[in-house]
Amino acid sequence: MTTEARLRIAIQKSGRLSDDTMALLKRCGLKLNVADRRLLAHVANMPIDIMRVRSSDIPGLVMDGVCDLGIVGDNTLEESALERQLMGNNYQYEKNTGLNFGSCRLSLAMPDEFNYTGIESLQGLRFATTYPQLLSRWAKANNLDMEFCLLKGSVEVAPRVGIADGICDLVSTGATLEANGLKEVETIFTSRASLIQKTDALCESKQSILDTLLPRIQGVMKAKESKYIMLHAPKDKIEQVSALMPGKETPTILPLAGRDDLVAVHVVATETFFWETMEALNALGCNSILVMPIEKMMG
Ligand code: ATP
Repeated sequence: MTTEARLRIAIQKSGRLSDDTMALLKRCGLKLNVADRRLLAHVANMPIDIMRVRSSDIPGLVMDGVCDLGIVGDNTLEESALERQLMGNNYQYEKNTGLNFGSCRLSLAMPDEFNYTGIESLQGLRFATTYPQLLSRWAKANNLDMEFCLLKGSVEVAPRVGIADGICDLVSTGATLEANGLKEVETIFTSRASLIQKTDALCESKQSILDTLLPRIQGVMKAKESKYIMLHAPKDKIEQVSALMPGKETPTILPLAGRDDLVAVHVVATETFFWETMEALNALGCNSILVMPIEKMMG
């Protein structure tokens, strides 16, 4: 009996990346039920299985070929690759595409009262971190001797309880640092979520599933960043109106029933459409200016 090849994707089970990852897969048309506690969730309408695990397990599962693909933060990926390289394990993977969520930075932070005068003032200090490999690579590149203290959680309390001088931790808004009396002094790595793939070639049937999935992922991301803009513009101002439109798309100009002076202008904007642009369009005599979200895009 031959079993149908199913593409296996590792994703974070629960945490900061899990909601965005599930939303992305759903918007790609995958129907999956993850309400139960099973490790492997079957996608009902495509030959894909979703393996829900800890974030830190995802790089290894892909590098060892247990999963074909994984969605993971670049920070976790790079830390894991450096650690596996050190241990003599396979640390190779291919990055398929960066994704537009999970943005954060790995930063060094010191107590507010610390007199920071540049990276030299960090010489010889002790840092608490979950990312010792990324930190030691950065320290080496900057000729700094640093001590590390490995903590898997609550890194931000380390200076207060006296186990480290500073911390090296993930930051997105900086609110956690501020709440703990810490100031960010250096960014050592910037990160976002990525779709990664094992280096061994996929069999033909898995490759063809990926060939369907990848354009959908790219379409969802492009749609998220784009807006559909519709407005009524004075016919004699079309050139000025077109010049104000964000992005490189050529606008569609349509006649308006019963109006010789106005036309309808439609355009997909791939860049942010600012209030200032709407006000400038309004000043040119445009009206009924609508900015709408786009759900899916292809081609
Ligand atoms: P797990 O608990 O699944 O082993 P984790 O401890 O890294 O993994 P989370 O705290 O949910 O779990 O973080 C998952 C990923 O989210 C991080 O590795 C990082 O890529 C991303 N992320 C985005 N913003 C932040 C942030 N402010 N703090 C921590 N992680 C962030």
